This record gives sequence, C-alpha cells and structure tokens, in this order.
Amino acid sequence: MNNDIKEILYSKEDIQAVAQKLGAQITADMKDKNPLVICVLKGAILFMADIVREIDTYCELDFMDVSSYGDATESSGEVKIIKDLDVSVKDRHILIVEDIIDTGRTLERLVELLKHRKAASVKICTLLDKPERRVKSVVPDYVGFEVPNEFVVGYGLDYIGHYRNLPYVGILKPEVYENN
Ligand code: 5GP
Ligand code: MG
Ligand code: MG
Repeated sequence: MNNDIKEILYSKEDIQAVAQKLGAQITADMKDKNPLVICVLKGAILFMADIVREIDTYCELDFMDVSSYGDATESSGEVKIIKDLDVSVKDRHILIVEDIIDTGRTLERLVELLKHRKAASVKICTLLDKPERRVKSVVPDYVGFEVPNEFVVGYGLDYIGHYRNLPYVGILKPEVYENN
C-alpha cells in the first residue's frame, strides 16, 4: 500500500499540529454557541476525531454521507445524500468538517441545504484545500493545508475505497489510477 504513494505531504504529527491550531480558533469563535459539528463521511472521519478533541467547549456531533465522486478521480457534479443527519439544524450554529475541497460542488450543495433548513450559521473546516480546481465560490473558514493539483489519498481520503487508513496524506502514483 505504501508503495503506491509518490510523495508524503503531511504526517500524522503535521495534521495533529494543524488540528490543534484550528481547534483553538474554533473554540474562540464558537464558545457558548453549542455548535453542531457535522462530519462529512467517510473522508473526514480521521480529521473529525482530531478536530473535535481540540474544541474546548460544549458541542454536539453528527454525521452525513454525500456522494459526489463515485469511484473515479474526477467530480461528476452530481451530489447525492446517502445518509442524512440525525438531528435538526434549525437555529443551530453548524461547523462542517470536510477532508478536501476540490471543485467546491459538494460543499456548495451542503451549505445550501443547511441554510434551507434554517441553520443559524454555517462554517466550514477542511483538512485540505485545492483552490486551483474551484468551480464554485466556496470559501472555507478553517483550512489545514492548501494542496497542489494532484490526487491525494490517506488520512481518510480514498481511491476506490482504499488508502483511507494511511496515517498520512500523500500523492497517489498516477500509474495506480491510470492502469485501472
Ligand atoms: P468537490 O465537490 O469539492 O469537487 O469534491 C469534494 C470531494 O471529492 C471530497 O470530499 C473528496 O471525497 C473528493 N476529492 C476531491 N479531490 C480529491 C483528492 O485529491 N483525493 C481524494 N481521495 N478525493 C478527492
Ligand atoms: Mg469529502
Ligand atoms: Mg472519495
């Protein structure tokens, strides 16, 4: 599995340090707001676990699964809800936790939905941001790292279901997906 990686970009330690920094900002911004922290499954689960442990105030957690990619490396533009939230977002302050923002299509759709459901506010925290690829004007409030325009895996991010368990973010060797 490690042989499929061209280059390691961020180690577990790098990610934990950035989660600590972002968690402190989120704590300051959302103290006394009892935020509902929404993890976008499945890619954000590892980062979610890091971030919520750095939020030093009352908050609640929920999970949502949306599909935008299927099994390919390119966004289809279609976003489908696979698993919806368990709790109501009405009048709640929301923090969405994402693995990566690429074209912005997934997040745009999600923010629209939460506002339609009358959330009081919606903020976005993403481990990775690929601003070069943006086609929708989504601006995250908290960003771990900006990544170059390459297909990355690990620390929750997959290629056809694999690599989520890698304890780092790395660039997948193009021959791995070109041979498929
Ligand atoms: P967007 O809707 O912003 O184009 O794409 C968001 C989703 O596409 C992410 O949550 C992630 O699942 C997937 N994605 C985008 N870029 C990458 C990438 O470089 N690697 C992986 N593994 N997934 C990506
Ligand atoms: Mg995602
Ligand atoms: Mg994926």
